[in-house]
Amino acid sequence: MLSSSQSQQVITCRAAVAWGKGEELVIEEVEVSPPQSQEIRIKVVSTSLCRSDISALDSQPIFPRIFGHEASGIVESVGSEVTEFKKGDHVLTLFTGECRTCSHCTSGKSNICQVLGLERKGLMHSDQGTRFSVKGKPIYHYCAVSSFSEFTVVHSGCAVKVNASAPLEKICLLSCGAAAGMGAVWNVANVLEGSKVVIFGLGTVGLSVAQAAKLRGASHIIGVDINSAKCDKAKAFGVTQFINPNECSEPVQQVIKRITDGGADYAFECIGDTGMVTTALQSCCDGWGLTVTLGVPKVKPEVSAHYALLLTGRTLKGCLFGGWKPKSDLPSLVDMYMKKEIQIDEFITHNLQFEDINEALNLMREGKCLRCVIHMPK
Ligand code: NAD
Ligand code: ZN
Repeated sequence: MLSSSQSQQVITCRAAVAWGKGEELVIEEVEVSPPQSQEIRIKVVSTSLCRSDISALDSQPIFPRIFGHEASGIVESVGSEVTEFKKGDHVLTLFTGECRTCSHCTSGKSNICQVLGLERKGLMHSDQGTRFSVKGKPIYHYCAVSSFSEFTVVHSGCAVKVNASAPLEKICLLSCGAAAGMGAVWNVANVLEGSKVVIFGLGTVGLSVAQAAKLRGASHIIGVDINSAKCDKAKAFGVTQFINPNECSEPVQQVIKRITDGGADYAFECIGDTGMVTTALQSCCDGWGLTVTLGVPKVKPEVSAHYALLLTGRTLKGCLFGGWKPKSDLPSLVDMYMKKEIQIDEFITHNLQFEDINEALNLMREGKCLRCVIHMPK
């Protein structure tokens, strides 16, 4: 750990840099600026790989860039005007922040902060600059988090202080995927006891939906995935019936309509394929069927659906981070984990050292992992 006089200086550390679309990450020596006004610099402890990192690496044109947005760490230093954090605080990063003052943050109706919401340009919200460079060349951020680095700088509204006794190497998962899935069930859909639920895509996001639906007492939790290797894990998280659409002789929505006697009460799209959003809508019942989309598509963002699906009472609803207001709500989710009311350890299929970060990308591309936790050097 650096002394306080050193802490306001540039840090040179290692980061996994993406130099081009779809390319392997390269571990480079990077310079990390001191935190500016309202910012904090974090020593990243653990960061897990989410599908969104890979989708952005494979599809967006912003390079060189440091990915990573599902992370835990310890505050190394704080910039001016930061009163909420001090050196040594344990934090989770927030890929969508909460300023607590904008019209959305104060509305009681939204978690889409108008000031610190999802950042798409690879820059810091405050000054549209970057805090990383390699030999003087600026490196773009990802979601204003960039946790694939030993140190990162984030806006103080894009981190949340958490219980210091919680294991950072596990709770990093609550900084994105696991929380997003649970929130979609509890905050967005508000799934009722005895409901019929169908989930498309059984990665960590989809299985978090399953876990939350089980906790709500759903009677049917149908899991749909083209990878049959997901079946056993899915059942452990509460999926009552597994369907591989490639092994069905009829369209999957017809199979679901039959086994739910007319359609599911709730469908969740956890793949990132807008074609599956249509299938999810078609799998819901008339009258009140609700489709919640969580997936982030890397191609073809348009959704198409026959108007009659809506005319007959179905609803399509999107959500980011499961509707959680990240700063306000995440500490209680961490506490639920500490009280063993929710499971997250079971999502961690691999633990990797930072040097092996490309192995995590390969495992996810090959469908062989749920979450790989990458442990940064101590
Ligand atoms: P993942 O890759 O671990 O899981 C996706 C699953 O979908 C895999 O099991 C895969 O086999 C399955 N799948 C792929 N194509 C399919 C198809 N055509 N039919 C059925 N199953 C199919 O990903 P993840 O980390 O669980 O993330 C899921 C999605 O959610 C991604 O699009 C990700 O970007 C997005 N996401 C959204 C939020 C949010 O806040 N809205 C948060 C985290 C992740
Ligand atoms: Zn994510």
